[in-house]
Amino acid sequence: MGVDGGRHVVIMGPQGAGKGTQAALVAPRLGLIHVATGDLFRQVMASDSELGREIRRYYDRGALVPDELTLRMLMERLDAVKQEHPDARGALIDGFPRNQAQAEALDRAMAERNERIVAVVHIAVPREVLLERLSGRLICATCGATYHRLFNPPKQAGVCDVCGGQLYQRSDDTPEAVERRLAIYYEQTEPVLRHYTEAGLRIDIDGNQPIEAVTEAILAALRPRVEAA
Ligand code: ADP
Ligand code: ADP
Ligand code: ZN
Repeated sequence: MGVDGGRHVVIMGPQGAGKGTQAALVAPRLGLIHVATGDLFRQVMASDSELGREIRRYYDRGALVPDELTLRMLMERLDAVKQEHPDARGALIDGFPRNQAQAEALDRAMAERNERIVAVVHIAVPREVLLERLSGRLICATCGATYHRLFNPPKQAGVCDVCGGQLYQRSDDTPEAVERRLAIYYEQTEPVLRHYTEAGLRIDIDGNQPIEAVTEAILAALRPRVEAA
């Protein structure tokens, strides 16, 4: 990563806004590495460990994992990204921060690490559309790629286009857990956007368009910020 240690972008928006879908498409085109806290948790839960069992107690209910544990896992991953991808500009951080305390902890961590958040992309999508998207979401068990039964189907049913892995429906994409996650989003996460408006970092994108149109809008908005020296 650059001499100043890392220039990261945060991607925000409600569940189903298309953060994971867009992050996978834009990160490679911007020299960023996609880091999703939800993916970190799903990986740990896939191994039968004490930590995995602890995370599952929160995850399956659609509740937030405690802030301190989440921040620690994110920072460990940022360290690993730096080691594994020395030429990357930074990370595209998806799923963090989820509340004001996490936003403030992220600011402190960035200052300590001599790294920066250079932009915060907010993907806006109306609630009715989110419910439709989440009920048909499919995830690759191997690489984490995201599909939709109707809106973005894989070439072969049940099989990942990218890696051939098996697709599954997430254990927290049930109507009850979706309701809880969206309620937490509107109560705790959406208010954090103000923090980034004040910092001059916020970029709003209309996420209620075809996937490719959203990608182009994000790239057009991010390129000048990410590519600036
Ligand atoms: P998030 O990471 O914000 O929760 P995802 O990227 O997982 O959202 O997208 C949620 C679901 O909606 C997935 O099934 C995905 O394939 C689908 N999807 C994403 N973007 C669009 C779009 N622009 N139009 C229609 N469906 C979409
Ligand atoms: P979604 O945005 O669709 O809820 P994610 O994959 O981002 O999905 O997160 C899934 C779950 O992982 C969350 O419901 C929560 O239990 C946990 N999680 C992810 N990110 C965080 C975070 N920043 N703080 C606390 N818990 C988190
Ligand atoms: Zn895959």
